[in-house]
Amino acid sequence: MIKLDAMENPFSMPEDLREKWAKRLSDVEINRYPDADMFELRKKIAKREGLQPEQVLLGNGSDEIIQMILIATVPGTCVIPGPTFVMYNLVSQWLKRPVATVPLAEDFTMKDEHFLQVCAREKAEIAFLACPNNPTGNLWRQERVEKIAKGMGGMLVIDEAYGPFSERTHTDLIAPNVMVLKTFSKVGWAGLRMGYLLGDAEVIAQLNKVRMPYNINALTQASADFLLDHFDLFEKQVEVLRGERERMAEALAAIDGVQVFPSQANFLLFRVADANAMFESLKQAGILIKNMHGSDRLLSNCLRITIGSEDENNAALTALREILI
Ligand code: PMP
Repeated sequence: MIKLDAMENPFSMPEDLREKWAKRLSDVEINRYPDADMFELRKKIAKREGLQPEQVLLGNGSDEIIQMILIATVPGTCVIPGPTFVMYNLVSQWLKRPVATVPLAEDFTMKDEHFLQVCAREKAEIAFLACPNNPTGNLWRQERVEKIAKGMGGMLVIDEAYGPFSERTHTDLIAPNVMVLKTFSKVGWAGLRMGYLLGDAEVIAQLNKVRMPYNINALTQASADFLLDHFDLFEKQVEVLRGERERMAEALAAIDGVQVFPSQANFLLFRVADANAMFESLKQAGILIKNMHGSDRLLSNCLRITIGSEDENNAALTALREILI
């Protein structure tokens, strides 16, 4: 299978780097608990972000941080756009906390007044804005995000899981009620499970109280420390994937029967006449993407394809064209 369903980086690590990494991991004392506070790692990440180590919270993937935030802020209403990343709603449901969805327009844009109105009406304790959004791929206008950040009564989490592909970050908006969530998953370390939250030091200290001790294992800590020293490699790969996204968007738009939506992420959302049939035919052709049909009224007959390597993308395009003939 050519796997284009989970927004992973398609490039495997170069052999020489793998060897150095393995050597570094062989130094880990696996009989000892990992560093619980991870100050040095947080310091390294903070430096990259132009912030203080006290402003960084590490999680076992950003999924775990979403869970921590929702646990710490229970029981008030959580406000999210619809459709958006499923975990915000799912974890809220586990915690039995109410969720208010702000439906997007047919083209997946959002009126900021609408979002703030819902937040005010529901007295939102917390709101999540994925920038760019998943599964739609679009990035909200900057003024829109700023207006929401400044006008929110409760907490706002700006989720930048796909930020590296959009060339925009919102760390300058960090305030006692505004946090920015990031992850290393999409840039190439999905298997490592490491995400981080950036926020006001006092808020981070409060959220840290619901973090499980040793939530980042010793191998992940050592790997992240090592890989951060080689981050330019991953940045170059992100650059290549951005170029591939533009090429794929154009190629898909040129196919009769395909409507492709603008994306600032490492995936593209597109619509065909019959998404279920297309999903199955692509699978038969050895290509796995994500069928979004049925998950939300706005996503009818929509499919989401992760940007892969040039060869993988070409194989997907060829299969798509053949199916639609
Ligand atoms: N936020 C968004 C918007 C996502 O799409 C995802 C992954 N699909 C995540 C967070 C979680 O990423 P991870 O747990 O791998 O850091």
